[in-house]
Amino acid sequence: MIEGFYAIDYQVHSFRSHDGKASIEDQCARAVDIGLDELGFSEHKDFDPDDPEVDYFDYDAYMVEIEAARAKWGDRLKIRAGVEIDYQKWFEDKIGSYIESHAFDFVIGSVHYVDRKMLMTPEYNADRTAHQAYHDYFKAVQDSISSGLFDILGHLEYANRRGIAAWRAYNPENYRPELESLFQTLISSKTPLEINTAGLHQGLGITYPTSETVSMYAALGGHYLSLASDAHHPDQLAHRYAQAAQTALSLGLTHLCTWENRVRLEVPLVAG
Ligand SMILES: [Zn+2]
Repeated sequence: MIEGFYAIDYQVHSFRSHDGKASIEDQCARAVDIGLDELGFSEHKDFDPDDPEVDYFDYDAYMVEIEAARAKWGDRLKIRAGVEIDYQKWFEDKIGSYIESHAFDFVIGSVHYVDRKMLMTPEYNADRTAHQAYHDYFKAVQDSISSGLFDILGHLEYANRRGIAAWRAYNPENYRPELESLFQTLISSKTPLEINTAGLHQGLGITYPTSETVSMYAALGGHYLSLASDAHHPDQLAHRYAQAAQTALSLGLTHLCTWENRVRLEVPLVAG
């Protein structure tokens, strides 16, 4: 429990991700220290054969470490074995067969690239205006939701990580049609929206998505919610959890989604 809230972190990485900076053991120890109720590991899994990290993730070794952590910490912390899958439409089939043959508690779909170009890099932006750059990103996110492959929409508006530096201030109002369309798909598929606080520990001063965008989701009747820090190091675990939880509550999002064997449970955000 953190400041009266049921406390989860459903996007957390370890050395089982190529860019992780902690062991599963370290992340669990920190989670218990700060009073997390549930820790959801979400190691990166990529499918672009040209990506040098494409084969980095080792499912069997991951599950051995998860089981060891559960044996040690399981009486104090619910430990969920998830995965964060990089979504690009052209390898949708590969994602589908991977998920069918590997058991996880939850599967996050995240867009980091469009057509093999990392979002908002000079290469990506070269042939685009700011509007086109964001529009194409939101279209890719919409495709990821429509694929039906994922349990959670990962870090919506992650494009801002490099997009704000490239294109200046971001105003979600400029993309209301794209966002409302995407949210309609999200809501009809009952997929939770994640509020990811990485933008706060990355120095951007905003969450992914921004609170204005979360309010659009809530205004359309969005109800399902996930909370995450994208911690790659234990110091980032549950970063600004109370702030994210307060934002959600102020918009009428009162419950969290938690996952076991890809079955959703709903838990009140305010600890009872
Ligand atoms: Zn990600």
